[in-house]
Amino acid sequence: MNNLKTVLHCYYFNTAKAADREAWSTLQREREAAGARMFSTHGGGGSHYLGYYPSVPVELEIGHLFNDQWNTAPIPALKADRGLRVFDFAHDACLPNRNIQRGHWLEITDEMRAVRRDTLKCGYCGAHYRGPEYPAFCTSCLDSAYLKAEDLRLLRLRPVADSRLPFEPLTAAESAMLMPRYREAQLHGSTERGRKRLAKARLDVGATYAAAIRNAEAERAGATWIMDNLPGLLENWIYYSHTGRHCFGWRKPLDGDVLSALLDRVSEFPGSYDIKCADGRTLSN
Ligand SMILES: [Zn+2]
Repeated sequence: MNNLKTVLHCYYFNTAKAADREAWSTLQREREAAGARMFSTHGGGGSHYLGYYPSVPVELEIGHLFNDQWNTAPIPALKADRGLRVFDFAHDACLPNRNIQRGHWLEITDEMRAVRRDTLKCGYCGAHYRGPEYPAFCTSCLDSAYLKAEDLRLLRLRPVADSRLPFEPLTAAESAMLMPRYREAQLHGSTERGRKRLAKARLDVGATYAAAIRNAEAERAGATWIMDNLPGLLENWIYYSHTGRHCFGWRKPLDGDVLSALLDRVSEFPGSYDIKCADGRTLSN
């Protein structure tokens, strides 16, 4: 489906003037008649007034639909390489001068109404469904790790145009149908993404387990050898699980008789090691 063509208009009125007051109430009446709800905000600190151009042709993208706003394709007239987020009817809120009414609005075409009526949207993940056949509930997010059982009613697919209406609770029959699928999806994944996520989690936990066992065995082997051979070194030895290496002299570098005694026997040590010496050398195997 292609982008939808329409026209974006900017408005600016000073209602201290009678003519502007009249024009502003006319615009509000017209927008209401067109079914456009006024979206009145600070616009994230910016302005909804885009008014270098009183009106400009725009193309609306239909990949992510909302019931009061749109993303445009890049607008050649504005020489911007990114599109804008525009509203059916936007108004700058809380300007210091309360007489200034400014913002923008879109001509609402039949095509725009139709795409909002004919596109169904999941209230949880926002997935879109179009075409003659669609399920009653979203199938894209049933295995989402964050989806709670009490939020399942949000998966009820509804036209984008209706997305402000409250979500009907599940009927007993819907609940009986969805709950087993939800549990199954949560356990095993129901989408490609969910199955991959679970498969990766399985690998990750296996790897974590193997590393923990490997480290515990290496640490035990090292400590046992030291206690059997040079127990005086136990406090000055440490096993680093992140590198899998044993370190002698980590508290106090070794020298003299202690170092000699270690060097005499360390070839039998069961593991990779580094010996920190008082003269600054590090001896490793
Ligand atoms: Zn969904």
